[in-house]
Amino acid sequence: MDEKVKIDGLSFVPFLKEEDIKREVKRVAEELKHDLEGKSPLFVCVLNGAFIFAADLIREAGLNDAPISFVRYKSYEGINSTGSVKQMVGLNEDIEGKDIVIIEDIVDTGITANLMVNDIKKRNPASVRFVTLLHKPESSRTGFKPDYIAFSIPSKFIIGYGLDLDGKARNLKDIYINV
Ligand code: IMP
Ligand code: MG
Repeated sequence: MDEKVKIDGLSFVPFLKEEDIKREVKRVAEELKHDLEGKSPLFVCVLNGAFIFAADLIREAGLNDAPISFVRYKSYEGINSTGSVKQMVGLNEDIEGKDIVIIEDIVDTGITANLMVNDIKKRNPASVRFVTLLHKPESSRTGFKPDYIAFSIPSKFIIGYGLDLDGKARNLKDIYINV
């Protein structure tokens, strides 16, 4: 875990360790469990980046009646936000009257999150909650505030635990930061 990682000519150093991630995922899962006990929320995992976080979070939250669905958005090329968001896969099911819990890997500018929450709210759910593993508050261009945050981090590019650099490094168990 003390190793540097080099991908596509960029250097990364260890930033958040597997055990720290586990601890914070558990904390957020317990908050969700507390807030949603007795309900049957629909988890909505935002692909691709959030798949590992979502897998750990929903197992820790232990809400047995909660199905999980997937949407896919894309906004990054390399290490920069393109500023525009493409929806690659949408939500097909009827969500009217449902308690929605969106699970995202990272909120950077907040553009993706804002768009998603506005789209979902138009379809009359009972409630919408937004959970993110990582938040870069200094990058916000929208003022979007997630309801649950595992870590607030500086505005630097990170990889690992589902987060990628052009498709690479999602498999890393720890999170690494660009230096
Ligand atoms: P936003 O719309 O600018 O908030 O960007 C959100 C999306 O950009 C996230 O869901 C990620 O897929 C991607 N992203 C933002 N920052 C990073 C990063 O540091 N590493 C990898 N992906 C990132
Ligand atoms: Mg994402």
